Amino acid sequence: MSGDCCSNPKSSSDAASNVVEETCCEFHPPQRCGPAQCPECRELGKAVQKITLEALVKPDTRARIPHQKEFCFCKTPTCDVVYFLPGRVLFRKDDLSVRVGIKENEDPIPLCYCFGWDRRKIWNEIRQTGRATAIESITKEVKAGNCFCERSNPQGSCCLGNISKVVKEEIKLLGLET
Ligand SMILES: [Zn+2]
Repeated sequence: MSGDCCSNPKSSSDAASNVVEETCCEFHPPQRCGPAQCPECRELGKAVQKITLEALVKPDTRARIPHQKEFCFCKTPTCDVVYFLPGRVLFRKDDLSVRVGIKENEDPIPLCYCFGWDRRKIWNEIRQTGRATAIESITKEVKAGNCFCERSNPQGSCCLGNISKVVKEEIKLLGLET
């Protein structure tokens, strides 16, 4: 294995069986990262491009970004590690200039970094109107080419997967019909 966290699944049949593939929405291609595990929580990471790290780590830590194209993002909510390479923690929550929504329990919990939806805003809308317009509204913006997730979202990808999870949880909690 080379130092890259994200091997090309086509290049290795062994790696292919461990590859994590996630499709957040129809507008963004699946992101693969595997079989690299977070050095702390041991969960498989998700691929992010260097542009995401450059945009989101604090300016004084930017010089620590290694010279390579792809990195891994740790998506475990309870793990403090944000970006890593195999066997090597690179950046933790405190090293970023934004809060990593999926790793936070207290407001503000940012979910859509391009169009400003946080968990509270989604909850409030559902409680007041019985429905959530976030997914529809974000989808419209994405379709229009207005999103810039790779530079705004620490996951380096579209937020719709996270948003729909929060909407579903809240609707279930309130006992509302979907
Ligand atoms: Zn982790």
